[in-house]
Amino acid sequence: MALKRLIFEDEHDWFREAVRTFIDRELRPQAEAIRENRMIPAEAWTKAGEAGFLGIGIPEEYGGNGLRDFRFNAVLGEEFNRLGAAYGSSFGIHTDVCAPYLTDFTTEAQRDRWLPKFVTGEMVTAIGMTEPQAGSDLANILTNATRNSSDDGWIVNGSKTFITNGIRASLIIAAVQTPAEANPSGKPGITLMGIEEGMPGFNRGQKLHKIGQHEADTAEMFFENVEVPDANVIGTVGGGFGHMMEGLAQERLSSAVGNIAHAQRAVEVTLEYTKDRQAFGRPVGSFQHNRFLQAELVTEVEVAQTYIDRCIQEHVDSTLDPVDAAKAKYWSSDVQNRVLDDCVQLHGGYGFMEEYEVGRAWADARVTRIWAGSNEIMKEIIGRSMGFGDPRR
Ligand SMILES: Cc1cc2nc3c(=O)[nH]c(=O)nc-3n(C[C@H](O)[C@H](O)[C@H](O)COP(=O)(O)OP(=O)(O)OC[C@H]3O[C@@H](n4cnc5c(N)ncnc54)[C@H](O)[C@@H]3O)c2cc1C
Repeated sequence: MALKRLIFEDEHDWFREAVRTFIDRELRPQAEAIRENRMIPAEAWTKAGEAGFLGIGIPEEYGGNGLRDFRFNAVLGEEFNRLGAAYGSSFGIHTDVCAPYLTDFTTEAQRDRWLPKFVTGEMVTAIGMTEPQAGSDLANILTNATRNSSDDGWIVNGSKTFITNGIRASLIIAAVQTPAEANPSGKPGITLMGIEEGMPGFNRGQKLHKIGQHEADTAEMFFENVEVPDANVIGTVGGGFGHMMEGLAQERLSSAVGNIAHAQRAVEVTLEYTKDRQAFGRPVGSFQHNRFLQAELVTEVEVAQTYIDRCIQEHVDSTLDPVDAAKAKYWSSDVQNRVLDDCVQLHGGYGFMEEYEVGRAWADARVTRIWAGSNEIMKEIIGRSMGFGDPRR
């Protein structure tokens, strides 16, 4: 009965079927074990690679599908989020956030080196922006790089925190400060560097203990005199901030897509529950308050979905304004959190139990208002676009 979504074509529907089959065969049966282990297993990544899910937007010569069509990313993100938000975020960091850096800002030699394994899932990626003392205020990160004595690379020192795929990743796209004299602009600035597993001085902390999204291996990282060759600089020296700004619209959209799919799933689960659960001789969903509440939830999700679909189409057409992506991110995560909270309420005490999907989903959802640019930062961006300052930051 919902409005028909108009953005997808037959190939996206077939792709969705393939993703659903993959999830049912490879992930759902071991979902409990994955949750307990707090990490998606390596084989799940390589099987996703084999199925062709990690090559969206990657040129065919490296094993990808060669199509820059975000609708495939959206389908993948929606289906993973329906299984659990941590699957959406872990795979999404790889396919939606890291992929464009590795295709758009890399040299041919870097693409030859990294992309084939990126596509097969043998190499999982992470993005390292946030630091213990700087998340929203990205320009003020402290991790820094200085030229090495042979002048063919960098020595990196510092740390990162809250990094999704932080334990599994073998390539981390890290934002580091480089000094004025090293940057072509002559000013201090951020440079993106590929920090690889096994580089001496690169260490990871424990998996962080989060209150939700337990399937994701979120971790700290430490860099102590890590030698990073020039060959691992991604994009322009000193141009990292600009590269990140270019990537943020897709990151925000990816987040929005997942948020609404996650909320949609919770509404469906709740509807089933409230039709079944009896109180005072009637299904709890049939009380007028609960009927109205569920009418509101369904409406909120559908209306948000329509805006996000429009953003997806704009992104496919390369016309998505980062400010509109910020609106999608902020609004979808607020809707998601409101919806999830009501879904828990409609489940009564069972909604607060760990074994109930809706309780887990509620905890998983909380972070979406904080990450990918917090909602306050999204409102800053939107506000500045209305003439209250520089909208690009
Ligand atoms: C589970 C998880 C996974 C994550 N994954 C990654 C990852 O893979 N890679 C990565 O780099 N980072 C990751 N992050 C980090 C995330 O992006 C940051 O937590 C987020 O950007 C907020 O930064 P912060 O935590 O330092 O909060 P702060 O910047 O300290 O903000 C604290 C509060 O102040 C508000 N605030 C800050 N500045 C302003 C302002 N100008 N106006 C109004 N309010 C403001 C914020 O909105 C927030 O409410 C992850 C975080 C979590 C929790």
